[in-house]
Amino acid sequence: MADIIQLLPDHVANQIAAGEVVQRPASVVKELLENAIDAGATTIKLIIKDAGKTLIQVIDDGNGMSVTDARLSFERHTTSKIRTAEDLFSLHTKGFRGEALASIAAIAHVELKTKQEQDDIGIQIKIEGSEVVSQDVIATPKGTSVSVKNLFFNIPARRNFLKSNPVETRHIIDEFHRIALAHPNINFSMYHNGSDMFNLLVSNHRQRIINIFGGKTNEKLVPVDEDTEVLKISGFVGKPEFAKKTRGEQFFFVNSRFIKSAYLNHAINSAFDGLLREGTHASYFLYLEVDPKTIDINIHPTKTEIKFDDEHTLYALLRSSVKHSLGQFNIAPVLDFDRDSSMDTPYVFKNKVSSNPNIEVDRSFNPFGEEKASRGFSTSSKKESVANWESLYVGLESKSNVSSKDFTEVQFESDEVTSKMFDEENLEKTQKTFQLHNKYIVNTIKSGMLLINQHRAHQRVLYEDFLQHITVKEAVSQQLLFPLSLEFSNTEISILQSLKEQLEQTGFVFSKFENSVVEVSGVPVSVSESNVSLVLEQLINDVENEVPNSNFSQTDLLAKSLAKSLAIKTGQRLTIAEQENLVNRLFACKEASISPTNKSTFVTMSVEDLDKKFM
Ligand code: ADP
Ligand code: MG
Repeated sequence: MADIIQLLPDHVANQIAAGEVVQRPASVVKELLENAIDAGATTIKLIIKDAGKTLIQVIDDGNGMSVTDARLSFERHTTSKIRTAEDLFSLHTKGFRGEALASIAAIAHVELKTKQEQDDIGIQIKIEGSEVVSQDVIATPKGTSVSVKNLFFNIPARRNFLKSNPVETRHIIDEFHRIALAHPNINFSMYHNGSDMFNLLVSNHRQRIINIFGGKTNEKLVPVDEDTEVLKISGFVGKPEFAKKTRGEQFFFVNSRFIKSAYLNHAINSAFDGLLREGTHASYFLYLEVDPKTIDINIHPTKTEIKFDDEHTLYALLRSSVKHSLGQFNIAPVLDFDRDSSMDTPYVFKNKVSSNPNIEVDRSFNPFGEEKASRGFSTSSKKESVANWESLYVGLESKSNVSSKDFTEVQFESDEVTSKMFDEENLEKTQKTFQLHNKYIVNTIKSGMLLINQHRAHQRVLYEDFLQHITVKEAVSQQLLFPLSLEFSNTEISILQSLKEQLEQTGFVFSKFENSVVEVSGVPVSVSESNVSLVLEQLINDVENEVPNSNFSQTDLLAKSLAKSLAIKTGQRLTIAEQENLVNRLFACKEASISPTNKSTFVTMSVEDLDKKFM
């Protein structure tokens, strides 16, 4: 049989390598920024268009390349950063695999301009899908500019696989943050579709963090500093009370390289043990410096994973130094948190405050049978208050056991006592709903009964409302008396910006949309002034946590997020009118039976079902 093995042509090999190195526009951004840093740049500019799908350009003022190097840099396994295998163990640069430029050039239109300090003129090379299209001598400043256009132009499947622009932009911003945080000694700027998103001047670590995440970050940071023989740890952890629901602000840098490590993340979390509210994550910005000999960065093509020689020691050191800092800066000890939560008013009680007192008349009370009667009265009232006190903690449990007459009293305690005397019979006939445990609405129907989850039902109603407003007709908005000024970080602003149009359709009116401030002058009818900022924060949170690979549109995400934050909650008491209104609106929905997150909004129970229970 003839030999069948052959060497792959270069451009094919490059395309395959590209699959590993370049997953999305953000991967290109990372490689280009790293090359600029390795070239000793002091100022680096990132320009993107359409989330990097149309253009990614990085301009640096670094060392530049000679004509030969410029040509060679696009060949696979060409690097100026290591020469021998030993060099791998003393890496001080970001790159070393010599794959990035070759890979990128295999799947995009690339234009390189570069000039070294000592040269009078520079060179411009254009490459499309690994083929050199042109090479010219040009006038260009010292340094290098690489622009990458039409990413994945020759791999339609990859191009179609890219996410929406906001999601891809988000990934780019993440990479930009990681690199900018690791190198505060370099000026970074970023422009998207012609407007500037970040302009970060040379500063220290703390200032860089603040410049990226907003001025309000300053008060949240607790410094960490530990210098041992094995490693040096510096940076900051976020105070526990500012812990976020997202893992967004967790950054580990090893020798100025951002890395991911579940193991070290665990070390930090265990240092926060007992200090965080459930479901929240500590933020951290930690910089580790270790001897390059003791780590191996080579295990992952995109280089965000790393192997340490002695992980156990590292774990212990990290945990203790974070703990030490939290202690030293008087961060609330565990005890305070326990006390805080136990002092919270139970939810049910909060809602009880406004209800009218129940007047009970002791019919057996005989003012003339002095001693006995008065004693009887006082004990009964004492018992009553004890029972009430207990009910604060057991919610409605005690009430659900009481007789049906008491039950109507509970429902109508806000009604006037007089009306009750006359309407009792009538009401019994017309009242179709009642609320159970401030959580479910029970509704009688011909065949039996419906048990409706109030929170989910309302989510469905609001969700369809918002969807309709965003896609069909604009909602009315209520004008705020005084515009509300809200502060956000640049990233958060960019997320809001991407949803601005849809938000306006729902009824939001923005009178200002600036670098770090959004001014809201009108809100949807369902939003109250006091929860505007919560609603927007939740929205940002939801966009940031959007499940990768989900096919949902931004519009859908927005409608879901707003519905989730605005829907009446479990524990909220509803009047009869409110209950009925909710039930009617639910059944006017297109998909009444499921919540926007695909959970049942109600269950039915037929009379037969009930009968069976009594057999
Ligand atoms: P690596 O960074 O792993 O060496 P790359 O493919 O990213 O591989 O780059 C290949 C080579 O091209 C680098 O080793 C470097 O010599 C040169 N190079 C790339 N980008 C720049 C730049 N912005 N400035 C100067 N030289 C660069
Ligand atoms: Mg590189």
